[in-house]
Amino acid sequence: MKTIPDSLQRFLFDAAPIRGEFVHLEDTWRTVLARHDYPPALRRMMGELVAAAALLAATLKLDGALILQIQGRGAVRLLVVECSGDLNLRATAKWEGDLATGTPAELIGDGQFVITLDPQDGGTPYQGIVPLEGASVAAMLENYMGRSEQLATRLWLAADGEVAAGLLLQKLPDQPEQDADAWSRATQLADTLKVEELLKMPAPYLLHRLYHEEDIRLFDAQPAAFACSCSRDNVARMLKMLGRDEVEAVLEEQGSIEIHCEFCNQRYVFEVEDVEQVFTEETMQQEVVRH
Ligand SMILES: [Zn+2]
Repeated sequence: MKTIPDSLQRFLFDAAPIRGEFVHLEDTWRTVLARHDYPPALRRMMGELVAAAALLAATLKLDGALILQIQGRGAVRLLVVECSGDLNLRATAKWEGDLATGTPAELIGDGQFVITLDPQDGGTPYQGIVPLEGASVAAMLENYMGRSEQLATRLWLAADGEVAAGLLLQKLPDQPEQDADAWSRATQLADTLKVEELLKMPAPYLLHRLYHEEDIRLFDAQPAAFACSCSRDNVARMLKMLGRDEVEAVLEEQGSIEIHCEFCNQRYVFEVEDVEQVFTEETMQQEVVRH
């Protein structure tokens, strides 16, 4: 039974320089899970990264997309989650073996964490790459944030086969008249959250459970959803980038070109005449530029 809509909800402590967010994802997360048969140990890690991507994207006020990637040399080779500024999410993974058990650190092995801010307006993406440190997805992200951000940030993440959820707390610059112990008190209380509570309780209940002694301002929920940005036009652009010789070599061998979107499973098929059209359009555009 679905009780909480897929959404992100921000809050602010009235008497302390702390802001926070809760995210709760059911339909979004189930849609990600329905696309591939992910093994159980990977599912949890992936759900936590999906929740984290929504939380971090919401702190950035992005126009484009935030892309979180965990690249591993262990059984998990790649985890990718993309979240747009308006909380459209998609995710995919590559792995080897059955991955029944194991901590994220064990499954990923030696790895790196890549964060990309893609403005998606043709501007240059920002990319940060750091070695992976930490036993959990939350710890890995906190380590990354500790290196790159000036604002102290803590994350609490949880995921099962039905729900991916998370809590973020961020310490804003201190104001002299405000309560100096508030940050450690707020994070210690959040440390008492049980996975079940994070997965099942709506934001107002969670806030009451943790911070009923504080004055908290809870803002309107912002909807979140699964959405894939793949399209036939994007595939055509990619074929152009590969170049005519390469694409025609594949055509020769396979009769048609079939591209499969790893995120949503959509298949795009380009027959000989479609490929011809892709490259004819390119030639025409180049001629226009030359004149
Ligand atoms: Zn897609």
